[in-house]
Amino acid sequence: MIRIDYPSNAKDIKQFHAEYLSRFNIGDLTVLLNIFLQRYPHLAGLIQMSVEEILTSSIEDLWIVCDSIKQAATPGELSDLGRIFNYDKNGSCSPSYQSSIADFFRNNSYGLDLNSCFFCNIDHINSITGVGDYNTWYDFYKNATEGELQSIEGIGPISAAAIVAHRQTNMPFEQCPINKKCKTSLRLYKLKNSTSHFTLDHVLDKASYPLAALSLYNLVPSCYSCNTKFKGTNKLVRSAALTHLSPSSLVFSFTKHARFKIYFPSNNNLTYLSVQNTNDFVLSYEIDKGAESYNDLIKLFKLRSRYIFHKKEAVKLIKKRKRYSNSQIEEIAKLMKISKDEVKKDIFGDELFNRDYDNSSLVKLKRDIAQNIGIEGIR
Ligand SMILES: [Zn+2]
Repeated sequence: MIRIDYPSNAKDIKQFHAEYLSRFNIGDLTVLLNIFLQRYPHLAGLIQMSVEEILTSSIEDLWIVCDSIKQAATPGELSDLGRIFNYDKNGSCSPSYQSSIADFFRNNSYGLDLNSCFFCNIDHINSITGVGDYNTWYDFYKNATEGELQSIEGIGPISAAAIVAHRQTNMPFEQCPINKKCKTSLRLYKLKNSTSHFTLDHVLDKASYPLAALSLYNLVPSCYSCNTKFKGTNKLVRSAALTHLSPSSLVFSFTKHARFKIYFPSNNNLTYLSVQNTNDFVLSYEIDKGAESYNDLIKLFKLRSRYIFHKKEAVKLIKKRKRYSNSQIEEIAKLMKISKDEVKKDIFGDELFNRDYDNSSLVKLKRDIAQNIGIEGIR
């Protein structure tokens, strides 16, 4: 539900694209695409783009081309196209570009802010997705199986068994009887196979829209749950009118048109002042008129039920709001000789006000609720 923040001025976009294209063998891809088009001339009129353009087209343009190919091509022809624009298959005519693309997302010089999943804004996206769904290294340390623990660099069967025995004692991690190198690897999620722990979701799925399998704006860094459990083979974009549902679209505006809200179904007269704990209210969304299509995103990623667990974040803010009224904030500011804004940041958290936190986990929920309960100046 957070838009991906790509470079915005023309010069930067050009360099950003050039950096992406440098990850591919454009010459080979062009030759293979030409051979394909000679073999299937009925598709040639539909693909009037260079390989460079295919790899860097907007999601809107990709939809138009890919959908027309899907209508016109046989399953065999689609599969042949997938062997050229090869994301992760072994033994295709092109090499698999998966790890090269993942590396671009992690290490491009424009520093895309890869913090939380762009679909759910709940989970972190540099988690150990290759071995299961864990939020943090500590979560992994506490809950991973012995087999999963051994996917970390330096950890073999003996260390894995030692970790399992130690975590049952509830003693601090620091006292775990494994060597320092293993501890560091575990804290950093350093996997033996380091290319496998980063998931990119294909907005237009590879099987139906193979031409877009390697395209920059068809790829959304996402958590394991969103990519595998919830989206899977379901389609988020089903028509040209729905391309704005992709966080890679320039016009993605979920943040603006949809917001979390607290409701009191049992009594409309209640306000946040009555909230003591998570059972006292219902957390749902309010969506602006004309923007109802964002409901598709909420439904597909099961956001309503997944956020129930995070209602406690709303309660935390509400409790603070009840404790600190605007006039009290003013008094504290005077007393401490700092601005009211500084006091608010200290009390309610910097992430509500500071753009540096725009992609932080749960930031949308926290900012919406803050607005909902009358905290002023929310970003
Ligand atoms: Zn997610």
